[in-house]
Amino acid sequence: MERSLIIFKPDAVLRGIIGEIITRFERAGFKIIAMKMLQPSYDDLFTHYEGIGTLKTRKGDEIFESQLASMQDGPVIAMVLEGVEAVETIRKMVGATEPKSAAPGTIRGDYAHVTYGAAASVGRGVANIIHASADLSEAKKEISHWFSDSELHTYDTVHQPFTQPRKK
Ligand code: UDP
Ligand code: MG
Repeated sequence: MERSLIIFKPDAVLRGIIGEIITRFERAGFKIIAMKMLQPSYDDLFTHYEGIGTLKTRKGDEIFESQLASMQDGPVIAMVLEGVEAVETIRKMVGATEPKSAAPGTIRGDYAHVTYGAAASVGRGVANIIHASADLSEAKKEISHWFSDSELHTYDTVHQPFTQPRKK
């Protein structure tokens, strides 16, 4: 089983839509193995977005600082989901980074529509609802950055019989 790190960004928490989005993941059969609300520090976001995500290196200082400020507009909810090839499938459910380009049916496409340009013109990171790990290596680093081992829970869901060998 794979694990992926999800963060509900302040725009999702402030809009009161996290329940609807959690429902999408539950409905798809992903197991929530950790979840917490926090006000992220600049340093924690720096590690997440540059140390792990290389956003500053890829996009430059202005976009990077705007994004970190936007992530501090309110509390966020961090969550770890577990499932078969979870990282890739969750990214597919989340959709493209820029809401304008995110397909209808994806989380970013259904809950947002704005552009990089509109966000940059007001000094904000593009409000796209949710973060999800981009690949397995990023997922592993992000999970250990935001959660300690004791915060990751083990339990059985009713979906599991369908992913395990039949009992004789
Ligand atoms: N971002 C932005 N403008 C950009 C690129 C990124 O505001 O031109 C923000 C956006 O919120 C995005 C986050 O920075 O989700 C991280 O960017 P990344 O390229 O890693 O995209 P993601 O993995 O979130 O799809
Ligand atoms: Mg990314």
